[in-house]
Amino acid sequence: MKPDRRHNGKDVLSPEQRRRCMAHNKGQNTKPELALRRLCWAAGLRYRLHAKLPGRPDFVFVREKVAVFVDGCFWHGCPLHYVAPATRSEFWKNKLETNRARDLKVTTDLIASGWLVIRIWEHELKNETSLSRQADRILEAVKLRHQ
Ligand SMILES: [Zn+2]
Repeated sequence: MKPDRRHNGKDVLSPEQRRRCMAHNKGQNTKPELALRRLCWAAGLRYRLHAKLPGRPDFVFVREKVAVFVDGCFWHGCPLHYVAPATRSEFWKNKLETNRARDLKVTTDLIASGWLVIRIWEHELKNETSLSRQADRILEAVKLRHQ
């Protein structure tokens, strides 16, 4: 592998941040999201991926109008885990503000058109207990709206 020389050879992101950047690409499924979907599927829920909706939810339940987003702690500014990068702080600050504003608008737009929006922090899927709690949350929401 060639060293990254764009910043004098220094890696400006920590390995953890780098990993989260990679996982950010929409359409590329992150492991925690896959685990969550697997639980939903096992419980008999049938979701749809890649629905053409505002913000491109990670998965949706069309009939019940439930949209699920798994938000990465770095990109969406998790209050527990977001750490501002040490370099290019202005750039990252703007980036985060833009992302947050977009998240809010997307949520508002979806609610306005009758969707129930479930946003889950990526860190909420990182241990089994919390993961199954989130799956239950989705299950209940879908069940409630299924009629
Ligand atoms: Zn977090």
